[in-house]
Amino acid sequence: MTKLFVASVVIAMIQLTTSTIIVAQVDAVAIAAMDDVNPNHIKADMNYLADDLLEGREPGTRGFALASKYVESAFMSMGLLPGVNGASYRQPVSLVKGTVDQAGCGVTIVGKKGKSDLQYDVDFIVLPNLLHPVSEVSAPLVFVGFGIHAPELGYDDYKKIDVKDKIVVYFNQAPESFPSNERAYYSSPATKYGEAAARGAIGVISMQLPGDQRISWDAAVRRSKQGITRWANDAGVAQNTFESLKVITVFNPEHAEKLLANTARNMDEIVGHLKRATPQSFDLNVNAKMKVKTTKTAVASSNLIGIIPGSDPVLKDEYVIYAAHLDHFGFGVPVDGDSIYNGAHDNASGTSILLEIARTFKGMASPTRRSIIFAVVTGEESGLLGSDLFANNPTVSRDAMVANFSIDMPFFFHPVLDIVPYGAQHSSLAKPLGVAAKHLNLGIGPDPFPEQVVFIRSDHYSFIKKGIPALFIKSGFGTVADDKVDRSVADVAWRRTTYHTPQDDMTQAFNFDGAATHVKINFLTGYLVANETARPTWNRGDFFGGMFGSK
Ligand SMILES: [Zn+2]
Repeated sequence: MTKLFVASVVIAMIQLTTSTIIVAQVDAVAIAAMDDVNPNHIKADMNYLADDLLEGREPGTRGFALASKYVESAFMSMGLLPGVNGASYRQPVSLVKGTVDQAGCGVTIVGKKGKSDLQYDVDFIVLPNLLHPVSEVSAPLVFVGFGIHAPELGYDDYKKIDVKDKIVVYFNQAPESFPSNERAYYSSPATKYGEAAARGAIGVISMQLPGDQRISWDAAVRRSKQGITRWANDAGVAQNTFESLKVITVFNPEHAEKLLANTARNMDEIVGHLKRATPQSFDLNVNAKMKVKTTKTAVASSNLIGIIPGSDPVLKDEYVIYAAHLDHFGFGVPVDGDSIYNGAHDNASGTSILLEIARTFKGMASPTRRSIIFAVVTGEESGLLGSDLFANNPTVSRDAMVANFSIDMPFFFHPVLDIVPYGAQHSSLAKPLGVAAKHLNLGIGPDPFPEQVVFIRSDHYSFIKKGIPALFIKSGFGTVADDKVDRSVADVAWRRTTYHTPQDDMTQAFNFDGAATHVKINFLTGYLVANETARPTWNRGDFFGGMFGSK
């Protein structure tokens, strides 16, 4: 009896020891599963999702409903468990879309030199106000540089000025001297609105930097006609809005002198300060009257959530989340006679890669210790809406979500030899990523274009904001010797000419083996995370961990 007791204690101790020292490895199970990754599966799923028949998969349309049905059926055929209360794959996402009634909008500048009415679409555009059908404001204007308060980076445009009950005027983006992902965070409109609102400002005028190549004024005007969309809570109230900011106006930077007329400043001086990252703020010595009239419509959409349960009695209650957005722009302004915005690369590709990642996990001889969630989300193009709703209202406890991998137009127009893993420098996810990349013989490179602020522009950012470490993996520019194209040039050119146009369709020269590489690197990194005993952590002192991390 005693002996037996001792023996069982020893066994228990051995079990305890083995379970606490598990360092996940690239093992035979993972290698065999990856052997079955099939580029044709990705091609076939994209072939359907990006077809003209789906009419660009805009949330609330028949095309989006067909795409959702397709993903739901794929989840079903793989045998994923329904992720919403074990009963359904669908998580409802209520959206509120607002467009402005131009006739009911106006901006008037009133100063010592008189009054000037500005022209809609020429001098300014106004953002819809999703909380009030009519909203107006009349207040002094104050210029606040980039509109950024970043004490940890030694930068503060608000240091010497009180903006309470005033309208703040600032330029978009953030100083070039900021590290890439911090620059992305501080460039985010939501960060800037939040800062202004917290300081008591009651309106905003923002402007593109003069010479910013990313979007022309005409393109900004065209895009504004689509309105803005937010997800709504159960009471139907649009979320991520700023009640105290009565009117938010976007100004044409070419006409910025109209705002400077009552100061001794000029644009060259101001832009010089922006370029040198010198904080600045001053009164513009004018008042502005701004008014916006908004028409709202409700749109019903949904996320799709499937689960593969883990095998460990304890860790199966924790989850690794893969996310990809299914939505695109639907019909839009015709370009070269085509009005269907198919979104083949953006993001039929990411959805199809996610489905193949799910097949790879399902094909394994034994499941991972943690559970895996596959979230195909809606409303990304309108501001990461489906993923933000999921991260705020997860179908499992938020604390149980240990890591996120998002897949969104990863670039596979050539064989993928190296990757750019956004987010890797912030958390311990760099370690399993490094192991996986080494196994797959992939190089790892830095962010090639920080000015694109990629880090805040896709669904992983919704998880980051809830304190969940995340990775967003894109292809690097490395290519095979006989590829005569400079892929760094081709990538930038694609963003300028094809991105968000009807030409992002299946006629493009995709390299589906490159897509398969994205399946493998995302799968293998997630496999290691799902099997490692310790959950991922933010790096000590990390900016995003400190801003959003709860542990
Ligand atoms: Zn997009």
